[in-house]
Amino acid sequence: MSSVLTETAGVLPYDQALEAFEPVIGLEVHVELGTNSKMFCGCPTMFGAPPNTQVCPTCLGLPGSLPVANQAAIEATIRIGLALNCEIASWCRFARKNYFYPDMPKNYQISQYDEPLCTEGWLDVDVDGPDGMQTVRIGIERVHLEEDTGKTLHVGGATGRIHGADYSLVDYNRAGIPLVEIVTKPVTGTDRLAPEVAKAYVTELRELCRALGVSDVRMEQGSLRCDANLSLAPRGATEWGTRTETKNVNSLRSVERAVRYEIERQAAVLSGGGRVIQETRHWHEDTGVTTAGRSKEEAQDYRYFPDPDLVPLAPAADWVEALRASLPELPTAQRKRLQAAWGLTNLDMDALVNAGGLGLVAATVAAGAPASEARKWWLGELARRANEDGVELAGLPITPKQVARVVVLVEAGTVNDKLARSVIEGVLAGEGSPDEVVAARGLVVVSDDAALGAAIDEAIAANPEIADKIRAGKVAAAGALVGAVMKATRGQADAARVRELILERLAGS
Ligand code: ADP
Ligand code: MG
Ligand code: ZN
Repeated sequence: MSSVLTETAGVLPYDQALEAFEPVIGLEVHVELGTNSKMFCGCPTMFGAPPNTQVCPTCLGLPGSLPVANQAAIEATIRIGLALNCEIASWCRFARKNYFYPDMPKNYQISQYDEPLCTEGWLDVDVDGPDGMQTVRIGIERVHLEEDTGKTLHVGGATGRIHGADYSLVDYNRAGIPLVEIVTKPVTGTDRLAPEVAKAYVTELRELCRALGVSDVRMEQGSLRCDANLSLAPRGATEWGTRTETKNVNSLRSVERAVRYEIERQAAVLSGGGRVIQETRHWHEDTGVTTAGRSKEEAQDYRYFPDPDLVPLAPAADWVEALRASLPELPTAQRKRLQAAWGLTNLDMDALVNAGGLGLVAATVAAGAPASEARKWWLGELARRANEDGVELAGLPITPKQVARVVVLVEAGTVNDKLARSVIEGVLAGEGSPDEVVAARGLVVVSDDAALGAAIDEAIAANPEIADKIRAGKVAAAGALVGAVMKATRGQADAARVRELILERLAGS
């Protein structure tokens, strides 16, 4: 079967694809560690520094230079392994992975091959299935430590790719930054949830690394990168199909979309009598498709061998146990604890986590707000603003402490909900702290009876029929008058007090 045909087979609609085939996924995630120095030299690792300013003879691969392993990176890798329920090797080695690429100055990458630091773990992820939330256990094949490559910038072309470029520039700042690769076992049985499981796994892994404090895990800056493997087998088949490995998946949403697209594409190839080629593919965020990369090389092509410049790695058992004992509360456990403490349903908890609001609400509660109020503001007004501005909740220029202060101001009756929204607007607009905004904008609830009296009299006079209804005992009609008073006072009246005063007045007349 020619590759031309497989590229032009198009896609089969998702439901049809799933009727005929069962997907198997496998995820390879690279996490750039947030260590101060590189993996095998003392160079700094700041993101965004001017090109080639964080380099030395070792990470430039100059003759005579020798690598020394970074202990902090080894420690971080072991902590990731422990958090993923892995076995930690008591003895392992670094290996040279030999291939030429201009952004890899030594002509080989120091990695780990058949002796990885961590093996045989698992991570549980929750996905929203047809019968509600379900937990899928993802097997972890290995977690190993390697060094990152430099970056090549192709200049002059339309696509940023090498084809059509006038020239290319190489920046070695990233070369030698510690990189942890986490590889799953093949994940079967997820069926039509495969794309969501893939996304949930990368999300959970990102949260885990964040909780461990080992990396800033920013997909958009490349400190967390994901390759998504996918194969399809006809339903009921006993063997898995041929996989493709999709690279360049730079957001959580793309993980899901890329897996979904590959299911549809491979299904079309297979249904048309074609054969899936084992290859890497590139995900295109803009068009939502994958295109063929290189055909996949085999491990033997890399001529791996133990790096003779580095001593074997033999983490002492008591060190590993000390690291295990010092692990922080992990995201799954934290979620369970907070959900119970806050009395949330699975659905509520899910909404909170998906909105990226869990940590923010937790911090707001820690700053003195009741959980229900903290949740209300973050998932309501603030989520709306974040959505409008196209930023994440955490990216809004307001802190959990400030939100907690707004909640306290509402509880104290200084402002009502409507004024609180105005306070938040002021804080987001950079007008200062909640108290400063209250003072500067004059946002204080008017609950003084005398001050409210005039507005209430006006509202009654302007709505005689409603007033009559209330006099006749239809208390529910008071809402319309309260609304009129609120409008007249531009939201600054204490609505509860206004209602009381209206009922008092009309009862007495
Ligand atoms: P490579 O070096 O080729 O990237 P790795 O072992 O690092 O290989 O990763 C391969 C990934 O693909 C793993 O996550 C593995 O579980 C997964 N995988 C292996 N076989 C299949 C298959 N038939 N379908 C889907 N995924 C697979
Ligand atoms: Mg790999
Ligand atoms: Zn260096």
